[in-house]
Amino acid sequence: MTDPAPATSGEATTYDIVVLGGGSGGYACALRAAELGLSVALVEEGKLGGTCLHRGCIPTKALLHAGEVADATRESAQFGVQATFDGIDIAAVNAYKDGVVGRLFKGLTGLIKSRKITVVTGHGRLVAPNAVDVDGQRVEGRHVVLASGSYSRSLPGLEIDGERVITSEHALDLQRLPTSAVVLGGGVIGVEFASAWRSFGVEVTIVEALPRLVPAEDEEVSKALERAFRKRGIAFKTGVRFAGVEPTDDGVRVSLESGDPIDADLLLVAVGRGPSTADLGYEEVGITMDRGFVLTDERLRTNVEGVFAVGDIVPGLQLAHRGFGQGIFVAEEIAGLAPVPIDELGIPRVTYCEPEISSVGLTEAQAQEVYGADAVGSLTYDLAGNGKSQILRTQGFVKLVRQKDGPVVGVHIIGSRVSEQVGEAQLIYNWEAYPEEVAQLVHAHPTQNEAMGEAFLALAGKPLHTHG
Ligand SMILES: Cc1cc2nc3c(=O)[nH]c(=O)nc-3n(C[C@H](O)[C@H](O)[C@H](O)COP(=O)(O)OP(=O)(O)OC[C@H]3O[C@@H](n4cnc5c(N)ncnc54)[C@H](O)[C@@H]3O)c2cc1C
Repeated sequence: MTDPAPATSGEATTYDIVVLGGGSGGYACALRAAELGLSVALVEEGKLGGTCLHRGCIPTKALLHAGEVADATRESAQFGVQATFDGIDIAAVNAYKDGVVGRLFKGLTGLIKSRKITVVTGHGRLVAPNAVDVDGQRVEGRHVVLASGSYSRSLPGLEIDGERVITSEHALDLQRLPTSAVVLGGGVIGVEFASAWRSFGVEVTIVEALPRLVPAEDEEVSKALERAFRKRGIAFKTGVRFAGVEPTDDGVRVSLESGDPIDADLLLVAVGRGPSTADLGYEEVGITMDRGFVLTDERLRTNVEGVFAVGDIVPGLQLAHRGFGQGIFVAEEIAGLAPVPIDELGIPRVTYCEPEISSVGLTEAQAQEVYGADAVGSLTYDLAGNGKSQILRTQGFVKLVRQKDGPVVGVHIIGSRVSEQVGEAQLIYNWEAYPEEVAQLVHAHPTQNEAMGEAFLALAGKPLHTHG
């Protein structure tokens, strides 16, 4: 690896790449580019690591883990362990969460420094296809990578006050746990907070306008999650539209178009994330946009020569690892390595509520649409037959969707801890494996991963621990 140094002529410095935004997409691009010997300026107005590290993936998963510990303590007698659950010390939970984030932030900052990436701190604005203005300082690059990320959306007329009507950013920083909460939105972020809060003892009601929770997942998965949430005492109303919210003496009253208002201490608005692209000069430089998103081709090039875009501002899955993958792709593209474009459907998706959900590829309904109903088969393997899942006392299943006489085109899993199963699922999908090929591979016993092996044995026509 050579030390990347920007080209200088007189006063002006030209980097190989200027990256606007130091979140998952932007910093991954910067790291890979530097590794390839390119000079990089990384413009960031907040903290390196962006949403995922500071306000997203990492802190939410710390909360969910604290919730898992609380649940395990409450349920310990089921396993013959005597323990009493005395309650949640939210200040201590926050300290644990902040400690995790802090350590990762320190590591990331050190990594960026060690790769000799120039971090330019301040508010960036694209002023030319090859230049970003950072609070009056012009930073030039042969290429510019837009990676300005996303923000929590609200609904028209729904004002976020940060106390009673909050977004996920505020929810991560609560100094006091609510007794009750309404979560507006039954997508990934909504169900994750609902799950963690329920584990902390909060009375939660989710309101979702679409007919089911986690509506982007396979329908069977949504049904299983709804059953599990009912059992856990998480209330939800689906197919119901939000009408408004007003303050009460000690909280909020959330009204719905269907009537039956809900009173709670607070309302968490989790209705999705919009692209952070307003007033950043993108349109002025001529970049084609659609409702605030930056449009790119499959090589992540915008319509303006030399300008690329990665992460949440590019339409598609808003996931940190998609940002990492896209960032690496763009760095390699600029370095001339001609990387293979990323298959969006091959990006694994995980929802970390309890029970967890993992998926990759097409849902059964999508597969039927793409290939025709007659050309698609599916198989569901119940975790009841899986030893490790019985030990953990979790319910759920592995569902496989395949093209008849063809490869597996979708894997969908629900159950405690199944996030870790998504790795094999994505290899199977991305390698276009046939069930018969996967069925040949031996899976370790007793693991939850074995359920995947069993599902493939059954789909290949040689079921082992499967009834009927
Ligand atoms: C509550 C929550 C939980 C999540 N959980 C997960 C999860 O478990 N797994 C997962 O894969 N994804 C998760 N995500 C999504 C994930 O955080 C995002 O997909 C990811 O952070 C997107 O990366 P990005 O680089 O596009 O943008 P961001 O991470 O948003 O980074 C953009 C960066 O650009 C900076 N910036 C923006 N504009 C400017 C400017 N003008 N000048 C200078 N700097 C600027 C911002 O300060 C920010 O640091 C979660 C998100 C949320 C909100």
